Amino acid sequence: MTATTDETQTDLPYRDASLPSAERVDDLLSRMTLPEKVGQMLQLNAMDDLEDIVSHRLAGSILHASPERVVEAIELARGTRLGIPLLVADDAIHGHGFFPGATVFPSQLGMAATWDLDLVERAARATAVEAAATGLHWTFSPVLCATRDLRWGRVNETFGEDPYLIGELGAAMVRGYQGDGLSDPTAVLATAKHFAGYSETQGGRDATEADLSPRKLRSWFLPPFERVVREGVRTVMIGYQAIDGVPITTSRWLLQGVLKDEWGFDGTLVTDWDNVGRMVWEQFVSPDHAHASAAAVGAGNDVVMATPKFFEGAQEAVADGRIDEKRLDDAVRRILRLKVDLGLFEDPRAPVAERIEAVVGSAAHRDVALDVARGSLVLLENDGTLPLLPSVEPVETTSGVSTGSTSGFRRVAVVGPNADDPHAQLGDWAGASGQVSWIRDGHPRELTETVLDGLRTVVPPSWEVTYARGANVVELGPDPDGTHFPDGQPRPPVALPAPSSPELLAEAEDAAHAADVVVAVLGDEVALAGEGRSTATLELQGGQVELLERLVATGTPVVVVLVASKPLVLPEAARRAAALVHAANPGMLGGRAVAELLLGLVEPTGRLPISYALHAGQQPVFYHQVRGQHGTRYADLTQRPPYVFGEGRSYTTVTYSDLVLDSDAVAADGVVRGRVTVANTGGRPTIETVQVYVGDRVTSVTWADRELKTFRRVPLAPGERVVVDVEVLAADCTIVDAAGGRVVEPGDFELLVGPSSRRDDLLVAPFRIS
Ligand code: BGC
Repeated sequence: MTATTDETQTDLPYRDASLPSAERVDDLLSRMTLPEKVGQMLQLNAMDDLEDIVSHRLAGSILHASPERVVEAIELARGTRLGIPLLVADDAIHGHGFFPGATVFPSQLGMAATWDLDLVERAARATAVEAAATGLHWTFSPVLCATRDLRWGRVNETFGEDPYLIGELGAAMVRGYQGDGLSDPTAVLATAKHFAGYSETQGGRDATEADLSPRKLRSWFLPPFERVVREGVRTVMIGYQAIDGVPITTSRWLLQGVLKDEWGFDGTLVTDWDNVGRMVWEQFVSPDHAHASAAAVGAGNDVVMATPKFFEGAQEAVADGRIDEKRLDDAVRRILRLKVDLGLFEDPRAPVAERIEAVVGSAAHRDVALDVARGSLVLLENDGTLPLLPSVEPVETTSGVSTGSTSGFRRVAVVGPNADDPHAQLGDWAGASGQVSWIRDGHPRELTETVLDGLRTVVPPSWEVTYARGANVVELGPDPDGTHFPDGQPRPPVALPAPSSPELLAEAEDAAHAADVVVAVLGDEVALAGEGRSTATLELQGGQVELLERLVATGTPVVVVLVASKPLVLPEAARRAAALVHAANPGMLGGRAVAELLLGLVEPTGRLPISYALHAGQQPVFYHQVRGQHGTRYADLTQRPPYVFGEGRSYTTVTYSDLVLDSDAVAADGVVRGRVTVANTGGRPTIETVQVYVGDRVTSVTWADRELKTFRRVPLAPGERVVVDVEVLAADCTIVDAAGGRVVEPGDFELLVGPSSRRDDLLVAPFRIS
């Protein structure tokens, strides 16, 4: 494209920062040709030929750009006819994980276990500050999919299973990313994804057709999205799957009807990776890219990710009238508005070396990552072996950290494949997880503290820490279906269970015999998690089951730490372990956090955002299942999950009593007000997560027995008793009726308050909504 004098003038209205945003956007739009408009809607993979992407296909946005390529691409865009700046996007979803040296936080599943909205917001803020310094304008986070089947490979990316908790944590992340608004140079665009119902898989397999009715979507899948739309999220990403035969990419009902018309979302929609192309080569619902492009644009998509052929396809569809040019203009306007609001015409927000130096992986951000990691750990079992330093004098700090005297000499054998594996600890979408080419070996090793590193750092100098790997998890092999997918993307290697190694086992056994306590760090690894990496089973893979069996047989107390992308099924030997800690993928400082928790330098305050299964065949195990099935057992197994949503222990004991309501009759526009007494009856401080559920006794259609409506995190000193106020709006005591409307049905309800979602753990107070 050749530049004309007119368009290169710097005093054109669209370049005038003093004009209102809409005026600038309209001016620019009026100067754009059809190829420029279609190009503006493209978001292409910056690992491909940049010249082709930016100068020929005129892409308005790129993703997966290496640090060097960000600079190159921004320069190329400056040289296009209208000089429209690029939107640079990537998956900075638990830290800016693909930027070498950036702070990697626990996975979303880990963050969710903190139940700490302020802390999660701070993690997102730190991520935005780091990302913005490196030239990123847009992160594809948060994930608002609700986990249903634990075999799904993307469980680690979710906030777990509960729509309310997901919505609140998602809103916290949106606040963190978008900061004080887009004119703030440290703000990045947040993305609510994957809209909607993508996690309702069949058999846990990735991107299968989702068996969802509109009513089921409205009941459990849409509420978190509606919540973050209210929070002001600027972009929404469309899921891969189809529902009832309609790829979400083309669902006008969901995109235009629900999201834009009903909820008033006026931001920008982005497809997921090659959704448009997949309609042609994977779902076979479009004969060619022109048809697929028309369907996607017509339904309301604005940015088309990773479909280079959209460039030709959309132009063809405009020419033959299948794309309405008004809709095309609407899409381009939504994209340009983001660019104007970010101030990219004045400053393309290219990477700034000094800023990178100052903020990426800064000590302050690593402190936040450590705090999140501490809060993300969930103590599930403890026979009293933990904490390992029982005589510590607790000193309360914001995160419950305490320090004090040490007791006696101890030998700790740190064992297991995840005890010293930085990649398993960081998890998916970080460093070596495989999505991008420039950081294949991961982050500099010294930035990640594994559990072994952490224990070596925090144990008293007189203690001895030994290490034995004990087992391998998987071996990688070529995919029998070939090296590449039909769209040319490389297929990841397949993961095969690693055989037990007699040498590794013997070494681990010796270490256990010689120790006072074993810390066995087990779990999965990145090859068993992520897109297209769902698992058929949930068992510990490779030599791990045999390893655990041998370790407990030594008689030395075994503390199991699960560093895993999702809740795994634990072998029988785990029941003979002394303690069990759920650690998700705890991020760069995760190993330090685990070590502090084991010693008792921090208190365990995390609570499960997701339920564990006893067997893969129990799927699904989420707590808010619909009432009405016969019995609670399979013929050969209980249906009860071993650990449920909301569950987690402390090093102290907490009791709940005296749940009382101000009134047991509430108007439909009123508030259910009550209070409950929580008491720390043990000798250590804690932060108790007081969970408030509501049950609707009789509903016009089947519904869950109870649903989380709110929660409070209450610090409790040893011996302290606190009366906690509880409030739920009657307007929130809703169900979705047969017509698909979210309504409060007057009648009898229950308020249930306690430390987990298990009915037996909850105090109950009846009330009536009139
Ligand atoms: C994933 C998205 C991600 C996108 C870009 C897709 O395959 O489903 O979650 O944001 O790739 O990396």
